[in-house]
Amino acid sequence: MLPLETIGPLPSCIHLFCCWVGHQAVTAATKAQRDWARVPVKERAQKLKRWYHLIMDNEDYLARLMTTEQGKPLAEARGEVAYAASFVDWFAEEALRQYGDTHPPGAGNERIYTIHQPVGVCACITPWNFPLAMLTRKAGPALAAGCAMLAKPAAATPLSAQAISALAYEAGIPEALFPVLTCDHEHSSAIGEELTTNPAVRKISFTGSTHVGSILMKQAAGTIKRTSMELGGNAPFIVMDDADIPAAVDGAIKSKFRNSGQTCICANRFFVQDAVHDRFVQLLHDAMREQLKLGNGLEDGVTQGPLIDESAVQKVEELVQDALDKGATLVAGGRRVEPNAWFFEPTLLTDVSSEMKIAQGEIFGPVAAIQRFSTEEEALQRANSTELGLASYLFTKDIDRVYRMSEGLEFGMVGVNTGLISNAGAPFGGVKQAGVGREGGSHGLHEYTEVKYINLKLG
Ligand code: ADP
Repeated sequence: MLPLETIGPLPSCIHLFCCWVGHQAVTAATKAQRDWARVPVKERAQKLKRWYHLIMDNEDYLARLMTTEQGKPLAEARGEVAYAASFVDWFAEEALRQYGDTHPPGAGNERIYTIHQPVGVCACITPWNFPLAMLTRKAGPALAAGCAMLAKPAAATPLSAQAISALAYEAGIPEALFPVLTCDHEHSSAIGEELTTNPAVRKISFTGSTHVGSILMKQAAGTIKRTSMELGGNAPFIVMDDADIPAAVDGAIKSKFRNSGQTCICANRFFVQDAVHDRFVQLLHDAMREQLKLGNGLEDGVTQGPLIDESAVQKVEELVQDALDKGATLVAGGRRVEPNAWFFEPTLLTDVSSEMKIAQGEIFGPVAAIQRFSTEEEALQRANSTELGLASYLFTKDIDRVYRMSEGLEFGMVGVNTGLISNAGAPFGGVKQAGVGREGGSHGLHEYTEVKYINLKLG
């Protein structure tokens, strides 16, 4: 019998197998993409429309699968199915409007014009917090533009990705064009390495942490791939003293507690002006008590599901403890519901300051951490003191302030008097270390096309 140590190479066999699967998928996608790019755009759009309708026809099934797999409450899961479908619908229509343009020629017998062509074979790596929408936000525009899309979903949510891609195949989108490559967390890097280094892959699109995004960008640099990176956020939620406070509280509940706080655009740092601080905290506390119900997401009325895993709960516990150790006040919640469970109480902290870890990076949990400020300049300066410039929120009724502050916020997105900013028709993305590129809207389609300029000399 072999000594136990000789079983050591087993993980590397799996690693090699994942690379091989990735490689085979890229080869098949390369051929499928050439054929797909030749399909008239109207026909491609019709297949995407069919996919959209199949997603909506299976809304309940997909939502239940997602709640069971990921934990978000059923009403939210239904909302995500519709949101995911909206990308397929929107890009099916937008693909028909990829207009080129003409330019003034250098000489009388020249004609200069541009066309948009598909980038080619693309790959995406998606996260578990929006297992459907993050996939369609990438695959929708890629397929509409005439690209192939190889998808590597998060290890925690492979089933949702497989279910929605099966509907794409049913709609007539070839499987080789849009393969879903699943593996466990440990071997994500093997597939990721193949997708980011294989020269046949022309673009990589990623949604996840800034840390992993930076690894993927380095790997992709070797073959000069185009990249779209939707990375971490540290969203400020600014409440000015002239704001409609009940509206700000409503926005706070929606922005902070959606998906139990596990979104990259969740309000992460609340900045509330002195004069309205106590009222905002009181009303937010009341709203949390009245509106948030923790439990099994398949049960009626539940608005808060579990966090994704044990390490997510431990991280939130540590952030709350660090804040309390450094002088924060616990107004509500603050702990996991029972030992070993991944349900964390909706939590409200006041007297939070920028020295606390909870104010420095993504919380990714149901904790509203409130800081005070005195002046508009101070709010802007403190809000901007992060490298994670993804989403930001501003509540004020003063129109001058709306312009001044929304233009001064160093973030890719600003929600003014709203806590909900996701929309298939709008360009989603961040600045600084929150990422590169935009998803959604016409910008989202351009991420999957190359502009070709043609100079035609007349005889
Ligand atoms: P999260 O904390 O949300 O899981 P990550 O950035 O760690 O965010 O992961 C996002 C996605 O990236 C997941 O699908 C994960 O499996 C994948 N991933 C993580 N590390 C790598 C890597 N080195 N190469 C490729 N994919 C990776």
